[in-house]
Amino acid sequence: MKQGELRPDLHPRQSPYGDFIYPVFSRRSKGLSLGINLNLDQHCSFNCRYCQVERRTPPPPGPKPEAALILAEVRRFFTQPHDLSQQPVKDLALAGDGEPTEAACLPELLLGLLDLKKELALGPLPILLYTNGTGLDWKRLGPSLTRLTQEEGEIWFKLDFWDEVSYHAINQGKMSYDHLLARLIEVGTKVPVVLQACLFAGEHAFGPPQWNQWIQLMRQLLHRGVKIQRLLAYTLARPPADSNCKPLSDTTLTQIAEQLTSALPFEVLIYGAP
Ligand code: SF4
Repeated sequence: MKQGELRPDLHPRQSPYGDFIYPVFSRRSKGLSLGINLNLDQHCSFNCRYCQVERRTPPPPGPKPEAALILAEVRRFFTQPHDLSQQPVKDLALAGDGEPTEAACLPELLLGLLDLKKELALGPLPILLYTNGTGLDWKRLGPSLTRLTQEEGEIWFKLDFWDEVSYHAINQGKMSYDHLLARLIEVGTKVPVVLQACLFAGEHAFGPPQWNQWIQLMRQLLHRGVKIQRLLAYTLARPPADSNCKPLSDTTLTQIAEQLTSALPFEVLIYGAP
């Protein structure tokens, strides 16, 4: 894979480096991010209208995610020469084609990645856990999330709805709205979380009245003790599942950022279309 093939509008999951790992150019990381895909079957507990996972062609059959297999791929990527060896890696991102917290191996994998990072002296190298929250069960993941957030890692929790109706309309998750928010509150009061949101134009999109409702929801979370580190809001970079969803202009994104920044006590970062 050549450096020129890394573009924010292309995030192929198949790579020459393994079944689970895939290098991408990430807008949010401002450079090379090594993705880890725990959902080779593309299963997800949400069905977001804006989802940019390429589901038009069925994925090739792949192995079941196991911590040992994935750690071996990450180790090879950092220890053996290849086309991207000279490129600095900005972060390790557990993202991929579905919801990483649904994978049974996640706690073992997180701890294994933190150990590997130390063993190979890879730091500073944040490990980012992207999540829609459905599998974010503190009983199962508490020790690994605690260590993750103590060692540069971050939990990027999806919050791009402003109430129960919008959650079902946009994210189409099967978990109840109350249960999902309870998950966020349970985890976010124990360890810091970063909120992430995909903003788009079209049906079901955020408009100025919804920005206010969204701000109110985030304020309620702060009031409940959720430790929100910052908010990352981005618009579409690749074709979405629902073609009615369109990227937002930089002008609109800037307006949203200004309103959010003046209303919320944490940092708001916005990422426009490439
Ligand atoms: S949670 Fe992520 S992978 Fe799942 S449907 Fe939504 S955007 Fe796609």
